[in-house]
Amino acid sequence: MTLILALDFGGTKLAAAVVNSGSPEWLRYERRLSPVNANANTDLDIMRSLIDSLLQGEKPAAIGVSFGGPVDASTGTVRLSHHVAGWENIPLKQLLEDEFSVPVSVDNDANVAALGEYRFGAGAGHDSLFYITISTGVGGGWILNGQPWRGVGGMAGEIGHMVVDPAGPLCLCGKRGCVERLASGPYMAKNAREGLENQPHTGEILRGLVGNNLELITGKVVSEAAAQGDELALDVLAKSAWALGVGIGNVANLINPQLFILGGSVTKAGDNWWDVVQKVARETALPEIDFAVVPAALGDDAPLWGAVALAELGF
Ligand code: ADP
Ligand code: ZN
Repeated sequence: MTLILALDFGGTKLAAAVVNSGSPEWLRYERRLSPVNANANTDLDIMRSLIDSLLQGEKPAAIGVSFGGPVDASTGTVRLSHHVAGWENIPLKQLLEDEFSVPVSVDNDANVAALGEYRFGAGAGHDSLFYITISTGVGGGWILNGQPWRGVGGMAGEIGHMVVDPAGPLCLCGKRGCVERLASGPYMAKNAREGLENQPHTGEILRGLVGNNLELITGKVVSEAAAQGDELALDVLAKSAWALGVGIGNVANLINPQLFILGGSVTKAGDNWWDVVQKVARETALPEIDFAVVPAALGDDAPLWGAVALAELGF
């Protein structure tokens, strides 16, 4: 039997698992929160201790790694992390190969999650798909003809910073009206907060849910208020879904994949959000272009399962 070790370096948590190749279930699984003042060294130390307890002295045949930040997948070098200090130009593949003497593959989390959904989740049976995560940020990963498509510099799939409203609000990337600026959880919260400040007589349900402390508004709170019929929250949520739908429709026009798989916490926003995403994507794409938009199947484990596929396929 072939033992595969899968590692997931997230922005806030570290996870690792071992699986016998071909098995649909983890043999062993461990997860740990990153400490508040985490840096690359503390992350690596925590990961080493997870690995020790998972391997129990056995040696894996290969290691696959998902990293939450830009990675040069051809060399397995991390470029940086937006959440954890000290990851600039860390040769993660090299480090792990030196330590464990087995082949290691490393890629960024959106690409790896796309591979996970393709091999083990909602993408099974399709060979060209785009996976999108809508959570704290918005990112994406491609599988084209059964292979990851990373782009020349490893930056393909950045649907989060596709501009859908050039006159829209300013995004952290410096442009206006990006998909992420309208659709991500924290930006939905910001839009709701600003709406409440500018229109004091709206959003009663939303205000009530946070006891008038607007700082407590999150994407999740916006979707709860929308579910209770709050007009302002419904608007913010509809704008999120609209932005994502326009992005998806444009991507369908440009690349024509069979399937869009949506993951990340914002996809729990409810049927109304999903209906708007599907409708706007359909309206934005040409009528001749066929595609489906479906929920991800692997949840938080998509990067780990993708890391298994990465290790098995050695992409
Ligand atoms: P992460 O997935 O980045 O580790 P969380 O899952 O806690 O973090 O949430 C990411 C973002 O998704 C947050 O902004 C949160 O408010 C938002 N979110 C979580 N649940 C929902 C929901 N049901 N509807 C809309 N947004 C949500
Ligand atoms: Zn942007």
